[in-house]
Amino acid sequence: MPDLAHRLADRIAAEGPQPLDAVMGEAVAAYYRRERVFGAAGDFVTAPEISQVFGELVGLWFALRWLAEGRPARVLVCECGPGRGTLIADFLRAARSVPGFAEAIALHLVETSPALRDAQAAALAGFPARWHDDLATLPGDAPLYLVANEFLDALPVRQYIRRGGVWRERRVGLGDGGLALVDGPEALPPPDLLAALPAPAEGDVLEHRPAAEAFCADLARRLAAQGGAALIFDYGPAESAYGDSLQAVARHRYAPPLAALGEADLTAHVDFARLAAAARPAAAFGPQPQGHWLLAMGIRERTQQLVAQATPAQAKALASGAARLCEAPAMGRLFKALALLPAGAATPEGFEIR
Ligand code: SAH
Repeated sequence: MPDLAHRLADRIAAEGPQPLDAVMGEAVAAYYRRERVFGAAGDFVTAPEISQVFGELVGLWFALRWLAEGRPARVLVCECGPGRGTLIADFLRAARSVPGFAEAIALHLVETSPALRDAQAAALAGFPARWHDDLATLPGDAPLYLVANEFLDALPVRQYIRRGGVWRERRVGLGDGGLALVDGPEALPPPDLLAALPAPAEGDVLEHRPAAEAFCADLARRLAAQGGAALIFDYGPAESAYGDSLQAVARHRYAPPLAALGEADLTAHVDFARLAAAARPAAAFGPQPQGHWLLAMGIRERTQQLVAQATPAQAKALASGAARLCEAPAMGRLFKALALLPAGAATPEGFEIR
């Protein structure tokens, strides 16, 4: 058993089963303290690692916001969970092609892993940035342009399970083979979450994402006070549904969620309807399939432009990367884009098609 699992097993023996969200928070933090998690040699591959065009189009989207807002002299660009820093490096390259935009950017990165902060600083190649543990310490004096790719799925979730006509909170306890989800005490899920769903059946699992919802509420308060825009990419259903979506991935394969705690990437689907609701009164656009957004933003055209100057091997990688990002059933449909803007804003670029 990995270290974290040992410590947890001791704690469970002493104190009884532990809350799932607390365990998930510890497991995710332990996992990202390690270095080699991304890429072909790591555990999983994310969109910005598949094609440079992903980060470039994100940069272009925010450049269009900046132009539409009359080129404010200073804007806060904030990426949450930047991983290796690939997206933000591609973003800044695209930003430099829009005169004045890069110069207006004060860059802020929300990242808790010291190893990944180092990797991000290296990817930025001297572009100044400030790091934060969460949104609370971001400045409040300029429009906020926030991007998060596969960040919200890493935030801790709670689960409830329907047993004998009541809800019980699921906890992490000890089973035959090690750590296991066990039925905890009777507990009521948030009533508004239940109100959005059909009547539960025996054995139904309901997930609640208090951290992701608090993040969206905080973001919405900032958009109302500071102005700006947010672009969120992640995977999960557009509408709330029952189901256990906790998953662990190591070496590009699914693993049982609690089997390799701290050594596999532990995530849960996001619930886009809940995120948009938590962000009210901010205006929400989407979620729409990531592939639709990429096509509307010009992934084909930009890829062709790069292919024209590439070696045959690079051209092949660019074409297959673009296809992988857009095509269902790969990332194009499972992954979705959600934009949040101040209340009353008009539909932003890339969200016109459905
Ligand atoms: N956006 C990147 C990486 C996604 S992985 C990409 O697309 O490649 C998740 C990222 O979120 C990692 O950088 C991880 O260290 C960070 N992270 C996870 N939980 C966090 C938390 N609670 N607070 C801040 N950063 C967190």
